[in-house]
Amino acid sequence: MASSGTRISRCARRIVLGLWLCSLQVLGAAAKDLDEEVRSVSSIVNDAYDYLHQNPELGKREFKAHAYIKAALQKLGYTQIVESKLAPTAVIAVLDTGRPGPVVALRAEMDARPLSEGSEPQHHVPRSQIDGVMHNCGHDFHAAMLLGTAAILARNPDKLAGKVVFVFQPAEETAGGADDIVKEGILTQLGVEKIFAQHVAGGVPVGAVSVSPGAALAGSSTFTLKLKGRGSHAAAPYEGDDLPLLATHFAQALSYFPARRLDIANRPVVVSIARIAAGGASNVLPAEAEIGGTIRAFEDIDREYDGGPALATMLKDMVDGMAKAHGVQYEWTLRAGAPPTVNNPRLFAEVTRPLALVWPGSLNTTPYRGMFAEDFAFYTKGFPALYFSLGIAKDGLGAVGVHRAEFTIHPEAAAYGVRLMTLLARIGTTGAANWP
Ligand SMILES: [Zn+2]
Ligand SMILES: [Zn+2]
Repeated sequence: MASSGTRISRCARRIVLGLWLCSLQVLGAAAKDLDEEVRSVSSIVNDAYDYLHQNPELGKREFKAHAYIKAALQKLGYTQIVESKLAPTAVIAVLDTGRPGPVVALRAEMDARPLSEGSEPQHHVPRSQIDGVMHNCGHDFHAAMLLGTAAILARNPDKLAGKVVFVFQPAEETAGGADDIVKEGILTQLGVEKIFAQHVAGGVPVGAVSVSPGAALAGSSTFTLKLKGRGSHAAAPYEGDDLPLLATHFAQALSYFPARRLDIANRPVVVSIARIAAGGASNVLPAEAEIGGTIRAFEDIDREYDGGPALATMLKDMVDGMAKAHGVQYEWTLRAGAPPTVNNPRLFAEVTRPLALVWPGSLNTTPYRGMFAEDFAFYTKGFPALYFSLGIAKDGLGAVGVHRAEFTIHPEAAAYGVRLMTLLARIGTTGAANWP
């Protein structure tokens, strides 16, 4: 015979099970609705991708993309489009539901890169129509998917609250994209409280999405070291400073620096030499040489680290000591690029639970860090933000990484990217508590 306590707990279990089944039914219906919504915007996404891919434009010169996206948004009924003085090719549009709720921004880039599109694989369409410029970082795809998302959200405002701000951003590959938009204060003026973005990931299967809490991508800085000394005839290196050979010593010392001078297990840093230039004639040792490269780190390299000197100071001191030891003059220039991209842990926790319940593919939330850099980092410094990776690989397409001439995308990835952005806008504005 069961005690009354056992009966209550059985009853409670039935109620919980009932609520859970009910939740699953609600989720199932919502997922079916979203499938239909995503299908309904496929021509908007495909047309935008075809146009942007065929008409690639470099950073700050995205005039055609600007006109296309602005016209498409206006056709969808968007009337609040904010101009940017510092980044005039940006298109920033606002969807105001008129109901109280958070202001959520969704960001996609617009710029292409300076490289001619490869001829392989032949079955990948569309193709760049501009010699020497191609979309090989997927920014055309990101913008097309955000346009599809804007269409879904505009047609179904009852599933949102608050406001959604669409940020079509120029110049991710160069300076003056996210940094200019943040500097101008546009997102702050619009009251943005959280911001999301996605980036295609070559080699990751279509349907797979990943996001991890904390620092996900490194900060990047570039450096140039100019060495000046005495030139000489190549037959008599003892009469000069042999700058080409000396430049290779500096290149090695800088490259080895993290592995030999830092606790890299706990302080990951990469210094890479990307350029060495010296001389011209094969029988002259020039009086100057130049090397340049990049520094990737998860720390602010100008700040003291763990009670010790800043990384920038350590590198400068090493260069200074080497130059003095070899009796040459030098100019050391360090330019800060994007800071690290940091995914907000609270926003990560808030969003990933409801997202996991409705995501039809694989959602990988395993902590991950990469040494690549991304200007979305400028937003993550000022706003709670999450940066997602979107799988694009299937049937031989989307297999190679970004920035390559053979870069391609499997078209089926678009439906997942539109779904992801739509869900982030809905979860972000209505609150995780409203998701079963
Ligand atoms: Zn890129
Ligand atoms: Zn990119």
